[in-house]
Amino acid sequence: MSWESNVRKVVPYTPGEQPRDKNIIKLNTNECPYPPAPGVEKVLKGLSYEDLRLYPDPEASKLVKSISDYYKVPEDQIFVGVGSDDVIALSFLTFFNSGKKILFPDVTYSFYNVWAELFDIPYERQPLDDDFRIRAEDYKKENGGIIFPNPNAPTGILESTSMIEEIVAANKDSVVIVDEAYIDFGGESVLPLIDKYENLLVVRTYSKSRAMAGIRIGYAFGSGKLIKYLSDAKFSYNSYTMNLPSIELGAASMADDEYFKTTCKKIMETRRRIKCELKALGFTFPDSQANFIFAKHENVSAQSLFCALKAKGIYVRHWNAPRIEDYLRITIGTDEEMDRFIEELRDILGK
Ligand SMILES: *Cc1c(COP(=O)(O)O)cnc(C)c1O
Repeated sequence: MSWESNVRKVVPYTPGEQPRDKNIIKLNTNECPYPPAPGVEKVLKGLSYEDLRLYPDPEASKLVKSISDYYKVPEDQIFVGVGSDDVIALSFLTFFNSGKKILFPDVTYSFYNVWAELFDIPYERQPLDDDFRIRAEDYKKENGGIIFPNPNAPTGILESTSMIEEIVAANKDSVVIVDEAYIDFGGESVLPLIDKYENLLVVRTYSKSRAMAGIRIGYAFGSGKLIKYLSDAKFSYNSYTMNLPSIELGAASMADDEYFKTTCKKIMETRRRIKCELKALGFTFPDSQANFIFAKHENVSAQSLFCALKAKGIYVRHWNAPRIEDYLRITIGTDEEMDRFIEELRDILGK
């Protein structure tokens, strides 16, 4: 028998393209179009290369403390990792071991099924309704765990705290993960519910609203018990996941609140404006509460728009996948970038 028959084979997640050409208008991976907070630049410039000689603090205490101070959550209820992808992957490994199927929406972040496959976790996708909404009833059956983003990706739809609480309350025997990657763009967080439900894990990232996708920081809030289990798994895998610059710069970002709030507001304002422009050009879309719009044109296919925009140096995201092949996911860029985008769309559509 070949050694290859014992290899764990997976179909990897395909991230959006990262073109090297700086002239490209990049509206394809939901990054923030504005730079990180000025406080981050200051700390970055103050970092000494000599500090890299030593191992970083394995507890990343400074980063954890900054998150604790900002959100008023005790430090022992916070976990940090290398992007929320790391936090979520480790959560799958730690919490989804019942052998029962875990549940997530059919249209959602396309990494969930990849982690399930990687860790041999059985799963069942729950179809969103015709308006791409999550149905609470679908999550009230036997399961080995539940995960969904709120707002959902790539739809941008925000579900209510009361509906999510209904799901969490109905699933006290499994861990429910709410992936709040886009919550800072106008949504209401379910964070307050962690005091009421021991089985709820709320995951966040620095990659979108904090404009720091390049530094790779994600974090999670939960009961002391959940966090302890996650932490035990982490220390059984790699003690030093958080490197020194990440710890320092992550803490600096939390400390610069005014800038953070201003950029989030700016993105929401641009989103409001672009929704009007897209509507006028014949697009329909769910009411996004994220930093992207998931839009479908009344008569031109998403595939052809995707290609035409790409030819003009504007990258958006398109999936050839059931239910969503007619849609483009358009990240909200700066006002200048979005004006160019609308102008080129007009040209392509002949309007
Ligand atoms: C971007 C994104 C993530 C991953 O973010 P990182 O922190 O950069 O790993 C996780 N979940 C959803 C829904 C996302 O859109």
